Amino acid sequence: MPENAIVAENLVYRYGDLVAVDGISFEVAKGEIFSFLGPNGAGKTTTVSMLIGQRRPHKGRAFLLGKDITRETATIQAQIGVCFEVTNLYEEMTGVENLKLFARLFGVKDLDFNALIERVGLAGRARDKVSGYSKGMKQRLMVARSLLHQPRILFLDEPTEGLDPVSAEAIRNIILEEHERGVTVFLTTHDMQEADRLSDRVAFIDRGEIVALDTPHNLKQEYGQRMVVAEVRGAEDRLEQREVVMDQPDTPDELQALFREHEVVTIHSREATLEDIFIEITGRELA
Ligand code: ATP
Repeated sequence: MPENAIVAENLVYRYGDLVAVDGISFEVAKGEIFSFLGPNGAGKTTTVSMLIGQRRPHKGRAFLLGKDITRETATIQAQIGVCFEVTNLYEEMTGVENLKLFARLFGVKDLDFNALIERVGLAGRARDKVSGYSKGMKQRLMVARSLLHQPRILFLDEPTEGLDPVSAEAIRNIILEEHERGVTVFLTTHDMQEADRLSDRVAFIDRGEIVALDTPHNLKQEYGQRMVVAEVRGAEDRLEQREVVMDQPDTPDELQALFREHEVVTIHSREATLEDIFIEITGRELA
């Protein structure tokens, strides 16, 4: 059996009376892309901060690469890369100076900085001060920083939140490249399309608890409804949308009626999205 990269056992964290993380358990296999999907305040960041040894759980334990993070914090931290939404870069230094500084702090030698900068799409701006970077450029530099020491697990907290499409895509491609190299990726996001596209498995987190955990495909099979969506010609030639829920006893009759009673202009099937399923399970929206 492959060893797990991350094991969380009944993690609990409170801020005063508020239980932010309420008994969370899960396992992430080595090489997996695992996403935590949930609305603002669900407890995603607090969970990550316990996993990476920033906060000590009030209850429960977390193991990374087989080691207890509260006992072997430094050993584990040397093997993980962390990219949090809040940037903490040196603004008065250039992009490449930032990377060189952190490489020294991490004890990284013999790194091809130019190749790394190229990978995150900052080649033309590497020698400019970070203070002049856009949010997306800073985030790409943060991702480069998290990769400096070739981590075995990468934690990315909302890595594409609020970014321009080019930067967001650059970061998604890096996640997939790291995955190809066998790196385990733990992603938190409230972008369900991103989670769907990138993740091997997703955990839905709501009010500090995991309410569902599976592959995007299985979640859709279990909770989602498939639909047939058609555009039909209505009054005064206007196109109107009609939907027929699939896999129901009366689906064939409804489809026949659709064609009998209307001029069908376009027709396609639509799977449930992770957002639909999240709403179905929790009664709440992700955003
Ligand atoms: P977001 O997507 O907004 O980052 P999240 O899912 O990461 O949300 P957390 O940041 O872990 O959620 O927050 C979980 C709960 O704990 C929220 O109710 C939040 O307001 C609260 N919380 C987080 N940090 C603190 C803190 N330092 N002090 C007090 N309460 C906090």
